[in-house]
Amino acid sequence: MCYRIGQGYDVHPLAAGRSFYLGGILIPHSKGAVGHSDADVLIHAIGDALLGAIAIGDLGTHFPDNDPQYKGIDSKVLLQKIVELLQENHYQIVNIDSTVTLQRPKIALFILEMRKVLSQTMHINMAQLSIKATTTEHLGFEGREEGLSATAIVLVKKT
Ligand SMILES: [Zn+2]
Repeated sequence: MCYRIGQGYDVHPLAAGRSFYLGGILIPHSKGAVGHSDADVLIHAIGDALLGAIAIGDLGTHFPDNDPQYKGIDSKVLLQKIVELLQENHYQIVNIDSTVTLQRPKIALFILEMRKVLSQTMHINMAQLSIKATTTEHLGFEGREEGLSATAIVLVKKT
């Protein structure tokens, strides 16, 4: 099997007074995502998609959220480990497409920086990583700004 695809989905609640980490960078906002790690919903969706592509479990099995070593951890460290797992299994990333769903803040101005940082983390070119953003027109938990979600689809190739 030469090519495989994977998909990932993640949700985190938003709370006032938390740092808002998304796509590997810190974004100024009055709220931040809540979670055991830095709660970076985009990295978690991408990580789950990569693990899913080669059917080796999910984020929770590799990095349990009750393990103190992952408390407050920079999710880029987890993503690096996942890319190492891919390499150990003789797969490389072809491309990644992702969507972050949130009402606020507007993240369009930060997407280039996220792509830069995360493509470096995964040792790929920026052209291999797409990050998009959408709102839900005030519908649902994202629209009420109670939380945010992200989805990712990846294609990987046997090396
Ligand atoms: Zn998560």
